[in-house]
Amino acid sequence: ATGTGKKLTIGLVPADGIGREVIPAAQKVMEAALPNRFSFLHLDCGFEHFQKTGVALPAETVQRLRDECAGALFGAVSSPSHKVAGYSSPIVALRKQLDLYANVRPVASPLGATGKPIDMVIIRENTECLYIKSERLLSTPLGKIAFADRQITEYASKRIGRMAYTIASQRLAARRAASGSSAGSLPPKATVTIVHKSNVLSITDGLFRESVRAVQADDPTFADIHVEEQLVDSMVYRMFREPEVFDVAVAPNLYGDIISDGAAALVGSLGVVGSANVGDTFVLGEPVHGSAPDIAGKGIANPIAAVRSAALLLAHIGESTPAHRINAAVDKVLVANDPSILTPDLGGRGTTDKVVRAIIAAL
Ligand code: ATP
Ligand code: MG
Repeated sequence: ATGTGKKLTIGLVPADGIGREVIPAAQKVMEAALPNRFSFLHLDCGFEHFQKTGVALPAETVQRLRDECAGALFGAVSSPSHKVAGYSSPIVALRKQLDLYANVRPVASPLGATGKPIDMVIIRENTECLYIKSERLLSTPLGKIAFADRQITEYASKRIGRMAYTIASQRLAARRAASGSSAGSLPPKATVTIVHKSNVLSITDGLFRESVRAVQADDPTFADIHVEEQLVDSMVYRMFREPEVFDVAVAPNLYGDIISDGAAALVGSLGVVGSANVGDTFVLGEPVHGSAPDIAGKGIANPIAAVRSAALLLAHIGESTPAHRINAAVDKVLVANDPSILTPDLGGRGTTDKVVRAIIAAL
């Protein structure tokens, strides 16, 4: 979907809360990075849409994403604090209906919480593990007992493994292109870290790690990627001690959820971390933060997570040059660290709009 002269259609699904502020912000940055390249399609979805119409995710939204868009950018959905009859999360449904089986979360900052640069990507399996939500409660004479099933398939594990190797290869190629023949720097190397707990869960996590390894064994294009393993608990420890050693980490759903929120803390605010939901035929950029009802409508939401998600989306649809330029512009704004521009979550007194204008100026 990446013709040269033709416009690329990008779906925009702001949904709820600050999604309505950060998605238009990211749209402005995309337009500035590549003027006249994109046409934007605004689509409905979310809890507010549900309250108005009784439908959280209109069938038309899914259909038009599939049929008309090269990729899309999603904002955030509000999660009602109590169960609402007829409502279920539209982002979960979107991931399922578009078969977006991977959550790809780059965790990068020129200056992370440890004082060193961080540049890693966490790839979380998005379809199975404990998220098959198969639980039961038994009442016994000795008290209640609760069980949950955890599903790991060879198919899903290989599919996510292939994505990890592919992304590691692409990052290596980008590093090589960026460094040229500069002597003195370490030779760039691609590393995939498989995160699991197979010392305890030898059957399920054992299948995960074997399947991810098998992808490399079966495909010579991945032969020179260095593969290592890390038990999830020591992964957390090492990520906080020496995050700079990681390149690409791949994990089953629940571990991926936990380590990626932990990693977000390493690079500052929830407001700066973007992600992409990726499948074989579609990509949906999505900031990792939620709808932030406490600050919605005040014009102070940090747009950087959405802007970085837009860059990820562009990279996945083959527009890697504007993607790099957008990320470099964001880095510049972060490094300048101007409190009159940055939003309050980063200690500033700026606004969404000021950050957008600074990013566009840096472009
Ligand atoms: P939801 O139920 O939609 O997830 P939430 O109350 O959990 O909503 P989050 O969006 O997850 O809210 O945010 C958690 C905290 O981080 C909130 O205090 C919020 O204001 C802050 N926050 C999240 N995203 C941003 C952002 N882009 N800019 C500034 N602050 C943010
Ligand atoms: Mg939240």
